[in-house]
Amino acid sequence: MDEVLLLTRAFSFAARKHAHQRRKGANAEPYVNHLAEVAHMLAVAVQGRDANLVAAGLLHDVLEDTETTRDELAAAFNDDIAALVGEVTDDKSLPDQERKRLQVERAPHKTDRAKMLKLADKTSNLRDLAASPPASWSTKRRLAYVRWGRDVAAGLRGVHPWLEGQFDAAAARAEQVLAEK
Ligand code: ZN
Repeated sequence: MDEVLLLTRAFSFAARKHAHQRRKGANAEPYVNHLAEVAHMLAVAVQGRDANLVAAGLLHDVLEDTETTRDELAAAFNDDIAALVGEVTDDKSLPDQERKRLQVERAPHKTDRAKMLKLADKTSNLRDLAASPPASWSTKRRLAYVRWGRDVAAGLRGVHPWLEGQFDAAAARAEQVLAEK
């Protein structure tokens, strides 16, 4: 598929699937803002050379947070994109704490491109936490979230220094904002 078609189709697909979702933060931004941020970060990271990875950035939460199936993704896009999104999708049948633990444990075993995608996702989440934290979260819970993000990111290193720098800056900023509370 032509790359412009692929990316606009992915954007349209993701926007439709997440149409009724908002971010958890106090600003309740449209969910698609997060997807656009992750995809753009990846596009910069690969300097426009991996359209499938950028498309996977747009689609990375559809398996976890919408009714979409992996077969549907493979049919609408391709196996590479479906596999990338599959790699960054938690098993929702597991309890929260177990999912969190598995993210830390499995991060180092992911493919390089899935590591990049996950790092961009974690970076966006920490930027959001600093800019618009969920109102119901205590400072302690927010700090624990940053610490967990750092634990996951530790297993994603060694692939893309620029993305690691983006993550480090987002984590440091989140901690700084939380320390000012
Ligand atoms: Zn995400």
